[in-house]
Amino acid sequence: MSEIGERLLLVQNGVNAALEKAHREAGLVKLVVVTKGQPAEKMQALIDAGGRYLGENYPEETAEKIAELKNIEQVEWHMIGHIQSRKIKFLTKYFNFIESVESLETAQKLDARFLEAGRKIQIMLEVNVSGEVSKQGFALAEKENWGAFIEDVNRIDRLASLELVGLMTMPPLGEHAESSRIYFKRLRELLAYVNEHKIGVKMTELSMGTSFDYSVAVEEGATIVRVGEAIMGARIYA
Ligand SMILES: *Cc1c(COP(=O)(O)O)cnc(C)c1O
Repeated sequence: MSEIGERLLLVQNGVNAALEKAHREAGLVKLVVVTKGQPAEKMQALIDAGGRYLGENYPEETAEKIAELKNIEQVEWHMIGHIQSRKIKFLTKYFNFIESVESLETAQKLDARFLEAGRKIQIMLEVNVSGEVSKQGFALAEKENWGAFIEDVNRIDRLASLELVGLMTMPPLGEHAESSRIYFKRLRELLAYVNEHKIGVKMTELSMGTSFDYSVAVEEGATIVRVGEAIMGARIYA
């Protein structure tokens, strides 16, 4: 087995162990392997080892790498990076899932472009539950902002080409994995709050946890984890 295949298995086992520790049902977490800044050869090794969900931040880079990859029919491509208007054309062409919708305006832009392209896509809203100023996403560290967020959620829910399925967050880099726990808990509380107050179907997905803290995230209810370097090794950049 390749080194990447071995590390994929190791992290999958870590996810399973955290599920068991939290008395959660096995197999309920999607392991998205983050491949930004990784060359196509390493991504091919990941796909050949059974990597099924790939996370990318820079859609133009993704398009270039996809041109070099084989056997990608089964791959589900997740956009997890900042969304720039002029890069949306790559999203409509190559991606299956957008985790990083950071504002109502971005959602509206995406909706218009996916409508034009004649397709639908699953999305999540990126939220900032820590208050760290450098972080993108809906500013929801203060619970007094949660009510206004529901109005945005209801508007986004009505956009025809987007299917809103959950929330995503990236906590501040702490000293220990345990430092992230309060933010993961807060995201889970926020999802419950939104489901209690929003109109229409309930959201089910919580995307949280990286190489550093995915076990804690799974213990706190993550349904998607985004793990890069622990599986792919060091990035060239970003
Ligand atoms: C890069 C990135 C990750 C993965 O980080 P690792 O430390 O490599 O596991 C996860 N989520 C987002 C949003 C990222 O940009």
